[in-house]
Amino acid sequence: MKPVVSAKDIEELLHNGGDLGTLPAEAIFTPSARDLLRDWRNKGGKLPEIARADTVSESAVPGAKPLSSRSPKPELDAFFNSASCRNLKEQICDVGRRLWQRAYVDGNGGNIAIRVGEDIALCTPTLVSKGFMKPEDLCLVDFEGNQFCGAKNRTSEILMHLQIMKRQPRAVATVHCHPPYSTGFAVAGLVPPTCMIPEYEVFASVAVAPYRTPGTPEMGKLVADLTDKHNTILMANHGVVSWSHNNVEDAYFKMEILEAYCRTVLVSTQLGVPPKTMTPAQLQDLLKIKQSLGIPDPRYGLKECELCDNDEWRPGVTCAVPGPQDATVGPDPELEKAVQAITDQILARITKQ
Ligand SMILES: [Zn+2]
Repeated sequence: MKPVVSAKDIEELLHNGGDLGTLPAEAIFTPSARDLLRDWRNKGGKLPEIARADTVSESAVPGAKPLSSRSPKPELDAFFNSASCRNLKEQICDVGRRLWQRAYVDGNGGNIAIRVGEDIALCTPTLVSKGFMKPEDLCLVDFEGNQFCGAKNRTSEILMHLQIMKRQPRAVATVHCHPPYSTGFAVAGLVPPTCMIPEYEVFASVAVAPYRTPGTPEMGKLVADLTDKHNTILMANHGVVSWSHNNVEDAYFKMEILEAYCRTVLVSTQLGVPPKTMTPAQLQDLLKIKQSLGIPDPRYGLKECELCDNDEWRPGVTCAVPGPQDATVGPDPELEKAVQAITDQILARITKQ
């Protein structure tokens, strides 16, 4: 008798870090199990040959082919109205609410997207506060920004998200918002200093993209060009955009981590003592964890002495040997002599009086 694989079996397997390739080749998959496998594949997950052949091949399950801008409209509609898509829409609404509650967005600012197929994404609508979105407000677009589904119009800033997804195949979700402390750094054109808080070092890789008019392809390109080595981009005079290779909540977490960090850095600079930093060796340990999590960082492979240089630490920094001026910092003998002579003269005059 052929084994039956349910959705619960698949969920448990994925939850425990199991390999879908271990599913029995002759298994019969329940309809909800097929849905899960299809979602998994649509999100870029790898499927074993057996599962693909048995459950999600074009012939076995109509509509199971990975969704793309070339999928027939009824297929896109079916996905857009499916329970699994509803779940993604709810995740976007949840992240929107958190952005608004934390004052990371203002007016109808900010936008969120999730990749749901080869070249299509679910995204937020224009002119709606991110704090009060409903699942039915969301839109389905291709990577050129053409809208297929959704009653409301997609946001114009989605083009930047789509350019990130095109450029960075690992980006499954993107979040853009205007958190005040981080945006302050973006207005100043400053990458926050490093080596102060482990959370920030492990989860965020920050760079600044120059200002361009929001929503233009040029702006999107400048941001997308940085996504090879960075997952959190400060957009000069504008805000922040982040991407995640995991899910939309993870992309949102980058915002919380960056915003908390920028705020903490500002507080620490007001305490009257220079902020202490961790050592390059301590940072190196954190970078090892970061690399194991699959998070990009431009510092992988740098020499230890280059890691915590907060003046100009980015690649291109060389390990500086103290120059001759630095070595002779201290009292100037000539100046000392002059001061001594003047002091002697004054003392001599006082004693004569
Ligand atoms: Zn914006």
